[in-house]
Amino acid sequence: MAKVHETVLEIDLKALKHNFHFIKSKLLPDTKILAVVKAFAYGSDSIEVAKCLENLAVDYLAVAYVKEGVALREAGIKLPILVLHPQSVNFKTLIDYCLEPSIYSFFVLDTFLELVTKEKLQDYPIHLKFNTGLNRLGFKSPDVESVMTKINNSDSLKVKSVFSHLAASEDIDEKAFSENQIKAFKEIISNIEPYLDYKPIYHLCNTSGIMNYPHAHFDMVRTGIGLYGFGNSDKIDTQLKPIATLKSIISQIHQLDAGESVGYNRAFRASKPMRSATIPIGHADGIGRQYGNQKGFVTVRDHKAPIIGNVCMDMLMVDITDIPCQEGDEVVLFGKSPSAVSFSQTTQSISYEIITGISQRVKRVYL
Ligand code: PLP
Repeated sequence: MAKVHETVLEIDLKALKHNFHFIKSKLLPDTKILAVVKAFAYGSDSIEVAKCLENLAVDYLAVAYVKEGVALREAGIKLPILVLHPQSVNFKTLIDYCLEPSIYSFFVLDTFLELVTKEKLQDYPIHLKFNTGLNRLGFKSPDVESVMTKINNSDSLKVKSVFSHLAASEDIDEKAFSENQIKAFKEIISNIEPYLDYKPIYHLCNTSGIMNYPHAHFDMVRTGIGLYGFGNSDKIDTQLKPIATLKSIISQIHQLDAGESVGYNRAFRASKPMRSATIPIGHADGIGRQYGNQKGFVTVRDHKAPIIGNVCMDMLMVDITDIPCQEGDEVVLFGKSPSAVSFSQTTQSISYEIITGISQRVKRVYL
């Protein structure tokens, strides 16, 4: 692997392919895969990831917001794109870029219907979102009749899919709750069916749902974190490959006398003669202040070097007293080992937060 000269997030597209095939191996051959590429493909760069997934013949992509879908279209992505949380102010753009909205409330349904009718569009694909327990977005089960009546009273919309989202698919302790969500979703499906003379795609499971509820894959699954290498369980994590590795270098090494302090507010004080290394990555890059003061660490020549003092905007300092290393050496924050799971655990965070939080200032490099 090439030596790095600055802070970079290395993205291993071969690992992405491995993860895609691993997830596919858990599905029946006909089950479709929707890849969630919101938030810059969980920090990895949605365009490169989407191109790779398009080559792998994924069935669908999903983003959170219209502008994320626009960026994919402008990069030439042709796959159908579901926008999970569109805002009505962006509906015209959504249509202009052939994006497909999640319709999750009567306000969203009415405003979208008004626009497609005005534009004289026919059978515009929409995705109906139902709330089965997450209580975040979605119609409730008793809304089926009014929703379907509004849709059937016009020829402007076509229900491409019907979906819901599991609240705790990774929590084995919440198995009964998840099973109830599955049951509620099945009831919604059977209430919708009489209103349609075609079959929409039904989907419920995210990555942990795919692994833990194989009887609930329906027609399609929606995977995000699994593609990026995490399965929310040690057993699955060992079979997936993290695609992102955050690397940097040692910019400068300081010899410290006992009693000297390091960084802003003098938050770290050396109790003995020490060596510290300054690394060019800080809270503006996504390594927040919660990682300071010995909570987080970097890996230098296979040794753990704890972060000392407060994390600065563009830099952090680590203790390298017992580590034989020099200026210009590479350091790893997270990647295959330590993984983003173990890196983020030191602050009670999760892999999702750390990988999506690496700012756009950090250069992405593809392997
Ligand atoms: N489906 C929806 C509606 C989501 O919001 C998300 C992610 O937040 C996913 C699927 C993918 O979840 P995961 O990354 O756990 O696979």
